[in-house]
Amino acid sequence: MRTPIIAGNWKCNMRLDTAFELAAGLKERIDGIEGVEKIVCPAFVHIPSIEVALTMTSIKVGAQDVHWEDDVAATGEIGAAQLEELVDYVIIGHSERRHKFGETDDAVNRKVKASLEAGLQPIMCVGETLEERQSGKTDQVLVRQTTHGLRDVAMPDGFIIAYEPVWAIGTGTAATVADADQAISLIRREVADIYGEAAAGTVRILYGGSVTPENITEFMAVDGIDGALVGGASLKVDAFSRIVEEAARVRS
Ligand code: PEP
Repeated sequence: MRTPIIAGNWKCNMRLDTAFELAAGLKERIDGIEGVEKIVCPAFVHIPSIEVALTMTSIKVGAQDVHWEDDVAATGEIGAAQLEELVDYVIIGHSERRHKFGETDDAVNRKVKASLEAGLQPIMCVGETLEERQSGKTDQVLVRQTTHGLRDVAMPDGFIIAYEPVWAIGTGTAATVADADQAISLIRREVADIYGEAAAGTVRILYGGSVTPENITEFMAVDGIDGALVGGASLKVDAFSRIVEEAARVRS
């Protein structure tokens, strides 16, 4: 049984007071919801405060990126050992990191390894651009990002991957359930090729890209889709809470 996950990526949004209000509102609305792992990923500078706001709740905190080395001269970076003191999860290889900041498959792989070694749970993102999809390269891209990201990784049971087609992120146009299902099945098959069917069966593969309280139901209705990574809709208490509530209802 794979426990579904609903994770909110707060990106570079909000000042601390607003982030704090959001955390307080979520505590009120979703702390008591069972059967779904609930995660919020604030900006680095807000993590300590949000961690305190959510102490003793069932809502976990994650980071949005990590450096692959600890205790080195890497100005502006934050190492996995530093993060592990504060958070449980870390998003790695988000499309904005890959496409706005030039993050490579190799960097993603190093970050995944460093995070696991430090005891963090990576949320490794993969996904094709619109151009790649339109030129029939979706499968090739997903296979490359998945296998490269996991190269020489001792993958634990329950490892988390997010399938996030770049063209669906922040656009209001989500992938169809059929397309998401197809991509996620392909990713799971790749994982099975590397680690075997049993291990692949434990991997949680999320869909991300314009998820809303309205469309979460159809994604959660698919067995192979283990939850969602949510951007825009995670910034509002009501929208994110309704997504979590609906995910729990569908899977109960
Ligand atoms: C994201 O940034 O990971 C994301 C899925 O964003 P949105 O939900 O806004 O498309």
